[in-house]
Amino acid sequence: MLELLFLLLPVAMGYGWFMGRNSVKQNDHSAKQDLSIKYSTGLNYLLSNQQDKAIEFLLETLKVEDDTVEAHFAMANLFRKRGELDRALKVHEHLVRQKHLPSKAKQQAAFELGKDFLSAGLYDRAETMFHKLLKSKDFNLKSLSYLLQIYQSTKDWQHGLELNKAIAKSNDKKLLHTLANFYCELATLALEKDEFIEVLELLENALKYDPNSCRANWLMAKIYENHQQFDEACQCYKDIYTQDKDFFPDVIEQMHSCYQQLNDEDEFYQFIKKVYDETGGSSALIKYLSFVENKHGLKKAQDYMLSALKRRPTIRGFKHFIKMQMNEQSSPQENENLDMIKELISSYLSVKQRYSCCNCGFSSSTHYWSCPSCHDWEQLKPVRGLEGE
Ligand SMILES: [Zn+2]
Repeated sequence: MLELLFLLLPVAMGYGWFMGRNSVKQNDHSAKQDLSIKYSTGLNYLLSNQQDKAIEFLLETLKVEDDTVEAHFAMANLFRKRGELDRALKVHEHLVRQKHLPSKAKQQAAFELGKDFLSAGLYDRAETMFHKLLKSKDFNLKSLSYLLQIYQSTKDWQHGLELNKAIAKSNDKKLLHTLANFYCELATLALEKDEFIEVLELLENALKYDPNSCRANWLMAKIYENHQQFDEACQCYKDIYTQDKDFFPDVIEQMHSCYQQLNDEDEFYQFIKKVYDETGGSSALIKYLSFVENKHGLKKAQDYMLSALKRRPTIRGFKHFIKMQMNEQSSPQENENLDMIKELISSYLSVKQRYSCCNCGFSSSTHYWSCPSCHDWEQLKPVRGLEGE
């Protein structure tokens, strides 16, 4: 209420000054007097807590001029911030109707109105407003972003794809990344129906708009695997490592099975060793240890693990180390104790979230391509550090 009063004061003062200046020129004292009466009536409504009446009265009374338009926007945005959407809508609609405003102010009013509709869940009306602004130099990018947000909320991927030319023209990285994920969403649906040609076309488009889309490469690898094209699948997994080292631990198992099919495990372990050397990740380390154990024996693998843990301790690594200590040479009692410790560590790890959103910090034990909290795409990555990778 008080903020509203403070916002309305400059509107009234600006208008008073404008009218005052004109009235001096024209000696029109009656207009000034009239304004003062109307303004007091508006304030009276506000002070007696009749906000809707006050807004209607003040909007009717106070003309929107170049020097008061900002105060009108501020007042409406304040309403929206307080969740009073009907009031925000009323002010923005009033601004949209002002034919004499400069074009930028008119576009801003339409844009803010679109945001009001979006906040109120009136997606079709918000969509119409943002579509109207696609040719605006000042609001084109923001409108594209809101349109994609609407299509993401309604899972209307196809309508999102219709914006591809405008998004490509904008060359905005975030919009291109979102568009690539829309293609991936449709590719996932087509994959479920075994429509491989369509899946490939959709994924090629995804990679055209965002060559760094891990998700597109991940889906592409799946297609190649389904068609027994393991060389190509392995290449996709290697690309994922180049594109996003943090996401790579999640594809190690799939990559391993492709190399097994190619009967070329040596190349796989060579690659995994490189991954471990570069990232120090526990998944790569555990995978590489099975190779060391097969090639050089358990003792060598244990030594390797111990020095790795000293360098970079992780709970998953420690659990694997305990598992390596349980062997035929140990006594049944020792094995039983070690098994108990291993189970305790497993229970501890099972309550820890595996993924965390790089954008908002949301954590989850399930992987989502779009973060359930901030809705950003491909931001959920395996957690790093002592309790993670
Ligand atoms: Zn997030």
